[in-house]
Amino acid sequence: MEKLELLYEGKAKKVYKTSDKDLYIVEYKDDATAFNGLKKGTIMDKGIMNNKISTELFKLLEDNGIRTHFVKHLSEREMLVKRVEIVLLEVLVRNYAAGSLTKRYGIEEGTRLDCTVLEFCYKNDELGDPFLNEYHIKAMGLAKEEEVEAIEKMALKINDILIRHMNEKGINLVDFKLEFGRTNDGEIILADEISPDTCRLWDTATNEKLDKDRFRRDMGKVEEGYMEVVRRLC
Ligand code: UDP
Repeated sequence: MEKLELLYEGKAKKVYKTSDKDLYIVEYKDDATAFNGLKKGTIMDKGIMNNKISTELFKLLEDNGIRTHFVKHLSEREMLVKRVEIVLLEVLVRNYAAGSLTKRYGIEEGTRLDCTVLEFCYKNDELGDPFLNEYHIKAMGLAKEEEVEAIEKMALKINDILIRHMNEKGINLVDFKLEFGRTNDGEIILADEISPDTCRLWDTATNEKLDKDRFRRDMGKVEEGYMEVVRRLC
C-alpha cells in the first residue's frame, strides 16, 4: 500500500490517501507540542515509538472486542488505518488526578479518584479545545445521543482493558485521551492513537513519569521515558 496525496497534517501525525478510498496511511512524526501549541520541540524517534505502542494497544483492544481504525503496522513510522469521519470530541478518561484536573479543582496530583471520570473537549485548536458536556454536544450537533452513549461505553471498556494490561507491565494508567470516528456504515470506532503523547503513564513502583509530561515540564530523559514504555508494552 503506497502513500498518495497528503490529506491532513496535524501536530504529531500526517494522514495520506491511498489507492483504496477506504484506507488511509498515518505517518507518526517526532514533533512534540504542548500547551495548545505554545511549546514546540522534537522528541527523537517519538514517531517510531508511538507507532509501535499504538499498534500494540490497538491490537490488544481489538482482541478484547473494541473496534478500532487500526488495520496494519506498515513501517517504522506508518500505520494503515480505516477511513473515518472524526467525531470532533476529545474524550478524556481519568483514574488519578493530574494535569488540568488538579488545577481546576485543587486536587493533589496523583490522588486516586473514587470513580473513573470521563470528560469531553471540543476538538478545536483555535478555541483551545474547550470542555463541553452532553448538552453542548447535542446542541452543537457534534454527535448524536446514541453515539455519545456508544463512545462513553467504549471509553470505559478501553480503560478497563488498558489498566489491567499496563498494570501487569508495571505501568499505572493515570489518564488518557481518546478520539473516535464514524465509518461509512455509521459505526463508531476508536481512532487516533494511544501513546505516551496521549496518556499519563507512571511507573507503579516509583511513580516515575514515562510520558509527555517529561517534555511539558522540562523534566529531561523524555526519550528514555518513551523507550521504557516501548520496552514494557511491545
Ligand atoms: N491529552 C491529549 N491531548 C490534548 C489534551 C489532553 O492527549 O489535547 C491527554 C493528556 O496527555 C492527558 C489527558 O489527556 O493524558 C488529560 O489531559 P489534561 O486535561 O490533564 O490536559 P493537560 O494537562 O495535558 O493539558
